[in-house]
Amino acid sequence: MSDSVIAAMEAAVAADPDNPALREHLADLLLSAGRMDDAWTHATAGLGMAPANTKLLRVAADAGDATGRTDEAAGYRTLLNALEPQAGHASAPPPPPPPPAATPTSPADESMPWDNDDTPSAPERARPIPAGGDVPDSVDDLLDMWEDNDAPPEPTVGEMSRERLLLSDVGGMHDVKSRLETSFLAPMKNPEMRQAFGKSMRGGLLLWGPPGCGKTFIAKAVAGELDANFYHVGLSDVLDMWIGSSEKNITQIFDMARRNAPCVLFLDEVDAIGQKRTQLRGGGGMRGVVNQLLQEMDGASNDNEGVFILAATNHPWDIDSALLRPGRLDRTLLVLPPDLPAREAILDLHLRGRPIEKLDLAKIAKHTNGLTGADLALVCEQATEYAMTASIETGTVRPITMKDLGRAVKDVRPSHGPWIESAKNFAMFNNDDGRYDDLLAWIKQNKIK
Ligand code: ATP
Repeated sequence: MSDSVIAAMEAAVAADPDNPALREHLADLLLSAGRMDDAWTHATAGLGMAPANTKLLRVAADAGDATGRTDEAAGYRTLLNALEPQAGHASAPPPPPPPPAATPTSPADESMPWDNDDTPSAPERARPIPAGGDVPDSVDDLLDMWEDNDAPPEPTVGEMSRERLLLSDVGGMHDVKSRLETSFLAPMKNPEMRQAFGKSMRGGLLLWGPPGCGKTFIAKAVAGELDANFYHVGLSDVLDMWIGSSEKNITQIFDMARRNAPCVLFLDEVDAIGQKRTQLRGGGGMRGVVNQLLQEMDGASNDNEGVFILAATNHPWDIDSALLRPGRLDRTLLVLPPDLPAREAILDLHLRGRPIEKLDLAKIAKHTNGLTGADLALVCEQATEYAMTASIETGTVRPITMKDLGRAVKDVRPSHGPWIESAKNFAMFNNDDGRYDDLLAWIKQNKIK
């Protein structure tokens, strides 16, 4: 293992000590290089931030054995076996026989995924500890931290987290932020005013626009502003191969959101969940999912108090109009490619914790008009790779320069072209009710042909 690569990783960890992914990589490199004490230090520090990280547990166990910390090493191995039973680490008991294969032809006889309470998956048992927490001294401490951690129960569908992002962390996008504030956040934060004006708490917000432009990021910031849990549910979490299961998943999702209220329930790719029922030929399955979603949103059988429904889509024209009626996703917000200040903020975000020289990010941002947040993340990755390759060649850390970024900008092409093409057609020919006015204005302003 080259010392220069380790030195580069050590510099990266020194710059961003609370990043468990960096710790994991460094600990692994140190283990391969035979630097067992250092590997132990970084693996245990990383476990303080990511206690269920199996790679860190493995390195801590190996480094612990090699440095005579046998008790602690055994403890880490026990945790590792609990999280990865099939891998059978060290003296682990043999894995249980696999369950009998499911027979989709007779769903009624089969146990469904949510019935299988005895064998929760690893992520369900892996309870997060907030980044920056104390480093545990022993496995017992680590288990205590798990016990003390009052994180909400982990859902079996989707991901629940507590977001610390605020709207002030969203770079630029002043128009989007002020519309969010007035149409969504202010009424949510002022229940007395809402009551005085007879406005109900019901209803949700649909964020739409090209991919990679910050819809998820903004939704997380909304959760942060409301001091609510953030429950991210993607299409793949809901659609199930067995007819009838997807409806159960929808119910389970809303139950989980209610139990964790206040909670922002973020339904990603909602166009696929809420396809127009008229487009669903012959398939009772998906139609049932849409109906179930409508019922849950209306809170027909349950009280959705404290559940804030946000949804995101790249294809609003595919969404069943019933989902957009009052009391459901009745407010919409277009999230377009980032403006100049947003691009600068995104570049800054993605370069944080990496070795950089003094950079003029405003200048780079000026040359990235039309790139999405995801494209800008790619620019940063590419520039990092240039600097890292140069560092490995010379054996000393060479920070990321303006030149690296300039080179990377030339390499990355805007990714939203195909989206704009199809969106333009829908906006021009299906805009009787004015729902695409914002998009048409942006297309005109940016002189998109
Ligand atoms: P998709 O439709 O593909 O799910 P999305 O619209 O939800 O994409 P995000 O995943 O939220 O996009 O954003 C892409 C990346 O851009 C993320 O890394 C996010 O951190 C960053 N980003 C986007 N907008 C901003 C912003 N205004 N300020 C800071 N970072 C941003």
